[in-house]
Parts: sequence; C-alpha cells; structure tokens
Amino acid sequence: MKYISTRGATAPKPFSEVLLMGLAPDGGLMLPEHYPQIDGATLQKWRGLSYPELAFEIMSLFVTDIPAADLRDIVNRTYTAETFGSAEITPVRTLSDGIKIQALSNGPTLAFKDMAMQFLGNAFEYVLAKEGKQLNILGATSGDTGSAAEYALRGKKGVNVFMLSPNGKMSSFQRAQMFSLQDGNIHNIAVDGMFDDCQDIVKAVQNDAGFKAQYHIGTVNSINWGRIVAQVVYYFAGYFKATENNAQKVSFCVPSGNFGNICAGHIARQMGLPIRRLIVATNENDVLDEFFKTGAYRPRTAEHTHVTSSPSMDISKASNFERFVFDLMGRNAAEIQTLWAEVGSGKGFDLAAKLQEAHEKYGFVSGKSSHRDRLETIAEVYRTDGELIDPHTADGVKVAREVREAGETIVCLETALAAKFEDTIHEAVGRVAVPRPAALAGLEQLPQRVTVVPNDAQAVKNIIRTTLDQAV
Ligand SMILES: *Cc1c(COP(=O)(O)O)cnc(C)c1O
Repeated sequence: MKYISTRGATAPKPFSEVLLMGLAPDGGLMLPEHYPQIDGATLQKWRGLSYPELAFEIMSLFVTDIPAADLRDIVNRTYTAETFGSAEITPVRTLSDGIKIQALSNGPTLAFKDMAMQFLGNAFEYVLAKEGKQLNILGATSGDTGSAAEYALRGKKGVNVFMLSPNGKMSSFQRAQMFSLQDGNIHNIAVDGMFDDCQDIVKAVQNDAGFKAQYHIGTVNSINWGRIVAQVVYYFAGYFKATENNAQKVSFCVPSGNFGNICAGHIARQMGLPIRRLIVATNENDVLDEFFKTGAYRPRTAEHTHVTSSPSMDISKASNFERFVFDLMGRNAAEIQTLWAEVGSGKGFDLAAKLQEAHEKYGFVSGKSSHRDRLETIAEVYRTDGELIDPHTADGVKVAREVREAGETIVCLETALAAKFEDTIHEAVGRVAVPRPAALAGLEQLPQRVTVVPNDAQAVKNIIRTTLDQAV
C-alpha cells in the first residue's frame, strides 16, 4: 500500500514514511491510494475478534512495510486493559432512549485522542529505532491534544516532546495532567500569551528550516495519517458490539471539530462496513454543519471562533476535511488545489452541486448544538440514566436524537469523560460528585514541572537547543 497526497504533487510513499509526516510537501494530506475492500466472509470472521486482533487485521491492510509480527506486537502493547480500562477497549452501552454510546475515552487522558495517540507513540518508537533516527515533537495545546501526546510519548526512546500551552489558561485538572509527568523526555513550556500565540510560535520555529533540520523538529497534529488509521478500528469494533449480524446497519454520530474522528468513519464505510449514516455533530462553531446543510464551506477566522463549553470542538477550519472532499471530487487533485486556494484566500468554496452526493453516496448528515442544548442533554441523561456524560458527547447525543429516523440504530461516540469538565457538569446538574477514575485521584496534589517563558519564539528555541545539546 502506498500513500498519495490530496494535492497530487507528492511521489507515492510507504506507511513508515507517512507516519512521521505532517502536511505533504505539496501542502496536501496523505491518503491511501485506494481503500481496501472488506467482503462478507472477512467481516464475519472479524466479528469474533478481540480489539487488538481486529486492530491488527485492519491495520495490516494499510501498514504493508512493517513485518506482521512487529505490527502485531505494537498493537498488542497498545490496546491493553491496563491502558484502556477494560479488555473490550471501547465498550458500547445503551441509554434508556435507545441511543448507544461507544466509550472511546477510558485511556490515560480521558479523551478519545488516546485511542490513536497511544498507537502513534509505540509506532514512532519502533520506526525511529529501526531507522536510527530521532524526532523532537513541538506542539501547541489548549488542553486535550497536548496531554494525549505526552502520555503516548512519555519515556519513549528517540523522541522528545516540547509542548507549549497558554500560561494560566488551562483548567487545574489539565495543568495537573500534563505538568505532573516526570519523564525526562517530556518538556512543558507555558507561554505568557493565548493559545494562538503558542501556535504562532510553533509555526515560527517550523519556518526556520535550518533549526528544524538541525533539531529534527516534527509534529503530531490531527492530520497525521497514523492517527486516522488507528481510529478506523473502533468503527468496526463499535459496529460489531451494536449489532447481532452483518446484515444490520448502524449510523455513527460524531462530536466533530477537525473532522479527524469522522474521517476515519468515512474510510470504514468506504471499506464496506455497513454504516448507514455518518452524523457530524458540531457546537456553536458550525462550519461543518453549514457545509453539510448548504454545500458552502466558509472557514471562520480566529476572532469569529466562539469559546464554548465543548472546547475541543472550537475549531473553524477543519483540517481533515480536505481528505473527504478529495473523495467527493472523485479524487481529482487539481480540483482540490483550486478549492483550497479559495480557502487560503479566505473565501472558502461552494459545492452545493455535490451536496446530494455527500448525503446519498457518502451518507453524511449533520446537526449542531448550543450551550443550552448541551446543559439540557447532560441533565436529561443524568435524570433518565443516572450517568454523567461530558459536554462534547452531549453535543453528539443532542444531534443524534434530533436526526434519528424510525428503526435507526445510532452509536454516539463518547469523546471524553465528564471528569475533565466538572464546571460544565455542575452548571448542568448542580454540585454533584463527578466520578473520576481511581488512578487520577489526588492528581492536582502531585508535584508539577513546567517552564514559563515570554511570548517569544526565540525563548522557546533556546529551551529546545539547551535541552537537546545537553543530551548529546
Ligand atoms: C478532539 C476532540 C473532538 C473533535 O475531534 P475531531 O477529530 O477534531 O473532529 C471532540 N471531542 C473531544 C473531547 C476531543 O478531544
């Protein structure tokens, strides 16, 4: 299996190379040259597999340049009951109104990003060791992605993580989660500024080609193909848990921001998994809902992005969306270049003529949720089922209820645990105790490690330089 770019000007590459890449050199995103097709007999065989066995079968179709025994080992070390709380890894439960919830957030940072990041951490370590390379990840986080990356890469050989966060802007839980890590390869840097300032510093360092090459700077952002492929697995796992046989169809409802999660669902559907509909749920930042309702894709600027109570979906330019549009446009890279030139100039584009195809051929529909909807949904699920769902999952449940058709089975992906968002939970249901996994009791009391720097790329470069020069 080789990988190609959505912009069409990058030579096809094998998985191991794509794994360590961010954007393709031509500015596009990497995708497999075709989607492997799963026939009925294979699907039947897969139904009985454990999560790691299933992950191995699916990933082997995409990862053809790592020996099977090694891939199996990586997958077996990744998807353990110890890391994800149960042997099922992503258990499915049913709410009293019939909506099903697939738990993707029982990993170390209580959010679905662990599902892919934990795999990435082990895969990075393997590929880097094999090629005798080193990689220094520089990232910016407002909370979730940074902690998932740190928990995935802590203690891994050949990798350092330099994670920028806005000083004093994260919740005390998020700070404690990241800053309490004592591993020598994890470096937390709090920037006196906002999240956007952190991102600008990352860009400034990336743009210094000399520095970037000398210090082997890389990223783990949501466009990484290794993350998408790991996410394809849980759509199959969720389908098998939600059905009795492969004649049944299931729809997935996905709380969305960067379109990374649901993009994996699109790929699972293209492979032949019997998915009826893919339901995109957004919050007040509704750029994707607008597209699937009207065909217009109009990314917003930072000042038109709302700060909401489902903050991990506060995104107004969905970086993985280009992968779906590439398929929608019949994989015509020239069209993608034209469309994203329009995005680059701030205009966006209009694909109203393709909307019916997005609905009928690709199964996409969408809905949105507001702060009030979120609170009401959390309170209602608490009343009817006695459980607390997180605000992002609540956006999904709200939209699933709204669009559900007679007889339709909908699996809502649970993208985080309520424990991460206590303030919003309290606003919804009053000051009840929000359950927290035992391993995280007393997290805020642990000693923390962080270096505070002024809002200045040079200060960050100095830390990277000093740290890495010392290590040699
Ligand atoms: C990242 C995240 C999302 C959005 O996922 P995308 O892949 O960016 O669409 C939703 N919910 C939570 C809790 C997240 O951390």
